[in-house]
Amino acid sequence: MIRNFVYLRANTVKEALDFLDQHKDDCKIICGGQSLLILMRQGLVAPEYLIDIKNVEELNYINFDPKDGLKLGATTTHRTIEKSSLINENYRVLVDMEKNLASVQTRNWGTIGGNLAHGDPTGDPGPVFIALNSTVKMATRERERTMPIEEFFIDYFETALEEGELLLEVQIPVIPPKTAVSYEKFNIIKNDQGIVSVAASITTEANGLGCKDARIVLGAAASTPIRAKKAEQMLIGQKLGDKLLDKVSIKASEEADPVPDIHASEEYRRNLIKALTKKMVKKSWEQAKTLA
Ligand SMILES: Cc1cc2nc3c(=O)[nH]c(=O)nc-3n(C[C@H](O)[C@H](O)[C@H](O)COP(=O)(O)OP(=O)(O)OC[C@H]3O[C@@H](n4cnc5c(N)ncnc54)[C@H](O)[C@@H]3O)c2cc1C
Repeated sequence: MIRNFVYLRANTVKEALDFLDQHKDDCKIICGGQSLLILMRQGLVAPEYLIDIKNVEELNYINFDPKDGLKLGATTTHRTIEKSSLINENYRVLVDMEKNLASVQTRNWGTIGGNLAHGDPTGDPGPVFIALNSTVKMATRERERTMPIEEFFIDYFETALEEGELLLEVQIPVIPPKTAVSYEKFNIIKNDQGIVSVAASITTEANGLGCKDARIVLGAAASTPIRAKKAEQMLIGQKLGDKLLDKVSIKASEEADPVPDIHASEEYRRNLIKALTKKMVKKSWEQAKTLA
């Protein structure tokens, strides 16, 4: 049963920050409620004040600039991202990721800011945004700050958001030339959270042969999304080949720290990480070398 709470509706960022400041000891932001209400129903979260930011239109936007890249406001829904032709043209991996995130109903109401702030290590957007080298913008009433999204996830359901702080925006830089990014999750129920997931960004040399840069990000493979940095290093300066892919994917599975649960054992998860890393690195590499 949900404990009684005081409902406050913010219509602007300023109002939301003022509410947060006044009630920071015992409040929660709600946007789509797709994750928060589950916790409230289970009695795991019982705030005195609930600050609804669903109507904060200032944070509902998709802005793209060919020099600065993409900016997504925190209250933008998953469905809006999925349906954006601008994103489809410039960041196809985000559309592919969103299509497999939950049901249409959840995507219609759940927001990108809510997803990230929830800090679920099985969340789909986290690994993709890390692979895309993204940054998040946050604010309290006193200050604004940005940080690489890689540093935003601290532990299971714990993020760098401090008391009284609101997540405002995700900033995604322009994808560099000869770079392709792909993402896939393995799940048992279609569109449900992944048992594990892997995002890979590969930049090839101008001739398409050697690997110039790589980012491999593992989801649901530790307490937060993590980069498999040793596996990434094994790719730099190398040419694509099956032997290399085998070594890299084994290394990525060793870098993971998966927790066994009712869905999968640790060993099964490591095997999945191996298979998905191989698939995603190969896919991105083959796409990257065909790019101008
Ligand atoms: C049936 C189901 C299936 C799902 N499947 C998937 C899946 O496959 N992949 C996946 O990634 N997710 C999945 N989810 C999770 C869901 O999509 C996201 O967690 C959801 O998008 C959260 O957005 P929201 O706006 O509903 O957040 P809310 O539930 O309103 O909030 C979530 C948390 O974020 C905080 N918060 C929200 N906005 C802000 C903000 N701007 N600043 C600071 N804090 C904020 C809240 O206080 C709360 O702690 C699923 C959810 C359901 C119900």
